[in-house]
Amino acid sequence: MQRLYEARDRFEAQWLKDFLADHHIESVVLGDYLSGAAGDLPVNVFPAVWVVEDRDLTRARELLREFQHQLTAPPEGWAWRCPECGEVVEAQFQICWNCGAIREKG
Ligand SMILES: [Zn+2]
Repeated sequence: MQRLYEARDRFEAQWLKDFLADHHIESVVLGDYLSGAAGDLPVNVFPAVWVVEDRDLTRARELLREFQHQLTAPPEGWAWRCPECGEVVEAQFQICWNCGAIREKG
C-alpha cells in the first residue's frame, strides 16, 4: 500500500477516493479518525489517501493531477444567487453566507 495524497480535510479525501474508484483504483482514507486515541485532540492530523495496490500508484498519481486541476480550476460562472435571500454566493460555497440556505442542485 502506498500513500498517494494528504488531503486538507476528510471531504476532500473522500472525493479523491471516489474519483479513484470511478477509475477502478482501490484506495483507503486513513488518519482522520484518530481523535481520542491518546486522550488528546489530534493536531495537524490530515486524512491521507492510500492506494491499496502498489501497481496502481503511477496511474493514481496521474488521476490525482486531474483531480487537483478540477478542484483548483472550476468553470467560470458558477456563482449562484441564493433563492432565499437573493445574495450572490461565490462558486466554491455550497451554503449561503448570509442566511445559511443550501445551494440547489442543477
Ligand atoms: Zn441566502
